[in-house]
Amino acid sequence: MYYEHDKSGILVVDKYLRLPQHSDVFVLCDCAYVLDWQNKPYSPTAQHVIREVKIMSKNLIFAINGNNQFFIFNYYSKGSMVKIGKRDSVAKMLGVNLIGFIS
Ligand SMILES: Cc1cc2nc3c(=O)[nH]c(=O)nc-3n(C[C@H](O)[C@H](O)[C@H](O)COP(=O)(O)OP(=O)(O)OC[C@H]3O[C@@H](n4cnc5c(N)ncnc54)[C@H](O)[C@@H]3O)c2cc1C
Repeated sequence: MYYEHDKSGILVVDKYLRLPQHSDVFVLCDCAYVLDWQNKPYSPTAQHVIREVKIMSKNLIFAINGNNQFFIFNYYSKGSMVKIGKRDSVAKMLGVNLIGFIS
């Protein structure tokens, strides 16, 4: 059976974190290509992973119990930051891009 992948080989899943072609298979974390409400993929980072786990666990229980009212994965990131060298960093906080040294 064919499963849709993104260009880096990650499995494309629906908003319930299921394989579209195989709705009883859930995929999450770095293995899952999930689109947000703006149709952009969530980044493969821990802040998304720990939230996906909560939604997937509930949906898995629903699936086992034959309940089709699944939760949608929808998370608004407050931001992310990358440290560069010893003193600098770049960040996006609440949609605002920041760069440099903040004392
Ligand atoms: C260098 C680095 C820095 C990062 N920094 C950040 C950060 O600052 N903030 C942030 O939010 N995210 C960060 N991330 C991303 C974050 O670590 C991942 O998004 C997250 O760990 C993905 O979780 P996961 O469960 O998908 O995979 P993993 O956490 O990689 O867990 C997969 C597990 O499966 C195990 N495994 C693999 N193959 C098998 C097998 N065949 N049999 C049994 N077990 C197996 C592995 O040993 C591992 O324990 C970073 C990632 C990297 C690589």
